[in-house]
Amino acid sequence: MHRPIALVTGASSGIGAQFARVLAGRGHDLVLVARDRARLESLAKELGDTYGVAGEVVPADLTDSAQLAAVEERARGVDLLVNNAGFGTYGRFVDLDVDGEDREVRCNVLAVVRLTHAAASAMVERGRGGILNVASIAGFQPTPFDATYGATKAFVLSFTQALHEELKGTGVAVSVLCPGFTRTEFQARAGIDDSSIPSFLWQEADVVARAGLDGLAKNRAVVIPGAINRVAGNLTLVTPDAVTRRVASIVMRRGRRIGQPGSIR
Ligand code: NAP
Repeated sequence: MHRPIALVTGASSGIGAQFARVLAGRGHDLVLVARDRARLESLAKELGDTYGVAGEVVPADLTDSAQLAAVEERARGVDLLVNNAGFGTYGRFVDLDVDGEDREVRCNVLAVVRLTHAAASAMVERGRGGILNVASIAGFQPTPFDATYGATKAFVLSFTQALHEELKGTGVAVSVLCPGFTRTEFQARAGIDDSSIPSFLWQEADVVARAGLDGLAKNRAVVIPGAINRVAGNLTLVTPDAVTRRVASIVMRRGRRIGQPGSIR
């Protein structure tokens, strides 16, 4: 029997690994994409042992054009695409390494565009399929000291909503998931000390992944998991831009870089 195939980028940890587990539990075979081959292989084995599904491992750095092209080729044949891979950089823009910002745009934006195009074209021809892109509540307003990251997520939020409208009536569902603070490796990888973020603001990765997939199943345009995140996201829509970015600047300035005591200058 043919099981639907789901491709998940950034499946080696965090929300991506949870997407893979939830999808396996719902009867999908998986194509697992990230750079860390060992972690993907370990997850593929776990999915096979636990759910009896096939996990295909496709190690790839999505910031590399040739490796991204190989993943695009694979994305043409899947029933469901989850563009989840992403990372942030934290600090004053002028103090950050521009090559890191370049990679961030390639991974968070360019890879999403190219993989979505590959998968969506084939899905429209088949008259069915689903695409879930992971943005963030950071995409609802400018995020000083996380400037490139917030802008990449604003792109994903706008891009995905547009496609949601364009593909209505084609049989292809398109949704964007906008998580708030989620317990994963994200903050540590971005060099953010998250110890001062209150516990009530955090969500677990499996809850976030499940909300995203449930939203896609209903073809919701925008999925914001958690009541607090929904209020925060919607507040930015009715607050003047000057106020929103000032508040964002004050909040983000309070963050601290790991290994660098004190606030950002
Ligand atoms: P995570 O635990 O750090 O996972 C990030 C995943 O992306 C990893 O599997 C990583 O795998 C992969 N990745 C990073 N760079 C890559 C590259 N160049 N090529 C291929 N894969 C790459 O963080 P997460 O929280 O689960 O992040 C998942 C998504 O949620 C991201 O898009 C993030 O922006 C978004 N998000 C997270 C939060 C949060 O608070 N955690 C909030 C809002 C939105 P490898 O290192 O093996 O390549």
